[in-house]
Formats: sequence, C-alpha cells, structure tokens
Amino acid sequence: MSVPIVRTVDELRTIAAEWRRSGASIAVVPTMGALHEGHLSLARAALQKADRIIVTLFVNPKQFNSAADLAAYPRTESQDAAKLALLGAHLLYVPDAVEIYPAGFATTVSVSGISQGLCGTFRPGHFDGVATVVAKLFLQTGADFAFFGEKDFQQLQLVRRMVQDLDIPITVVCCPTVREADGLALSSRNFRLSPAERAIAPNLALVLIETAERLARGSPVLPTLAEARAAILAAGYRDIEYLELRGETDLQPMTSLDRPARLLAAAWLGETRLIDNVRTSPVFSEVR
Ligand code: AMP
Repeated sequence: MSVPIVRTVDELRTIAAEWRRSGASIAVVPTMGALHEGHLSLARAALQKADRIIVTLFVNPKQFNSAADLAAYPRTESQDAAKLALLGAHLLYVPDAVEIYPAGFATTVSVSGISQGLCGTFRPGHFDGVATVVAKLFLQTGADFAFFGEKDFQQLQLVRRMVQDLDIPITVVCCPTVREADGLALSSRNFRLSPAERAIAPNLALVLIETAERLARGSPVLPTLAEARAAILAAGYRDIEYLELRGETDLQPMTSLDRPARLLAAAWLGETRLIDNVRTSPVFSEVR
C-alpha cells in the first residue's frame, strides 16, 4: 500500500474537488515532515473525523530564523510517506517551493497580539511565516478540518485567531502532546540531542508538570516560576528563553492563577532549542 503524493496546487485541487463532488469531508494535517508519533496522532485523529485526509509536508523557509537551523532540519519524505500509507492517509501534499512562494510573492499574513511574546520574542518573523503558509495550505486544500498539536500552543492559538479573523471556513482541532515514556515531548529536533542531553531533556516537561501542580494548589506565581527556572538550569539546560504563565485562550501574561492557564517554556539544551507547555488551573475551577 502507498499514499499518493502530489506536488502542485492543480493536482491537489483536482483530487479535492473529486472528493467534494462525492460528498466527502476533508481534513488537513500541516507538517514539516520527519514524522513521529506526535504527527501520526494528528493524522489518526483526522481519520476519525473526516472521510479524506491530506497530510502536508513543507519545510517552510519563512518560519526559520537561522539558515543553519533550516539546513539541519530533517528531511525524510520516503519514510514519512511509508508511515502515512500504513495509517491509511489519503494524500500527501509536498508542494514544490514555487507552489507556496511563486515569483513575485508579496503577501504576509500577520496575526498581532498572540504572535508577540514567548516564541515571538525570540524568533522574529517566525509566526508571520507560520500564518502565511498555514493560510495558503487552508486555501489550497479547501479542507473542512485542520489538525494541530497542543505541543506548539502559541501556534495553535495563532491559527485559531487567524481562522476567526479571516472567516476561513475550517474547523481547527487540537490534539494533546504525545510524549516519550519519560515525559519528553516528541519533536523533530530531539534527534539532535546527544545521549547525555537526551537523559537531561525530560526535565523540562517534569518541571513544568510539577510547577503546574504547585500553582494549581495555590503556590504564589512569581516565586514558583523563579524556582522552576532554577530547577531547569540545575538539571543541565544551558539557557531558558522564557518560562511564563499565560491565559489559556488569550495568552495574556498572568501573575496570579485566577483562571485556566498555560505554563509555557522554551529552553536550550546544548545547541538544541526545546519548547513545551502544560495546562494549569486554579483548583476551585476544576471542582465547579
Ligand atoms: P511540525 O512538523 O513540527 O511543524 O509539526 C506539525 C504538527 O504536529 C503541529 O501541529 C505540531 O503541533 C504537531 N506536533 C509536533 N509534535 C507533537 C507532539 N509531540 N504531540 C502532538 N503534536 C505534535
């Protein structure tokens, strides 16, 4: 069994239009490839929801901040296709660069507010790149549903905001973060970790989970976050870009836990930048 691969918008639209004529619903799962269980969980969820699923694979240069990071990004198209075939995905869309950024391309989709702070501070232009490519993939596929991982929480909320603001007729579905047994969130960048770094890596998630529990039990926010930062550095991370408590839907900074929130962090382990986030909520609102 194999999954059909298309590389042009024309081929993609022809197939999607046929599906639509037959009354099928369509889901899209945007990825940059190097597929792991996190990506596959989105594809499985999409298969549950829609009659036809399109997985997209595009390593989007506009969302990388460094040429070295872009060059080092893993590219494993044939293995990705094999995994998707096994799952029963209906189409793999691997657009040629010109299909996304044709000559003279001059449009940027920029979502203010949510794209500022957190990763937005440390990766200038990243979220404009994400919003622009995701908008194009939504328009090119014409999908009814789009599946995104909670792992990239700021991206998820940005896409939701964009869909709402631009009246894009697509339902965004969020899937939980898939983790290794020791807690490390699956990521295409984990392969860069040395064995020693891999042993340290789960501490980011473990500290976030423990901190979320402490906050939920009423521990004061600012000192608790300071202790969390210290614990991540003590575990062997080199640098913390941010570790913050933000409102669950608006991503506004919070200094007391009075509503559902997310604890989000980005930290460097050697030369690898890892991000993670967990939910937290005041205990009283869980009980109600
Ligand atoms: P990427 O290929 O890294 O751009 O990710 C493509 C999609 O997979 C995004 O919606 C990510 O949030 C999602 N994703 C990446 N890692 C995970 C994970 N560990 N668990 C769930 N979803 C993930």
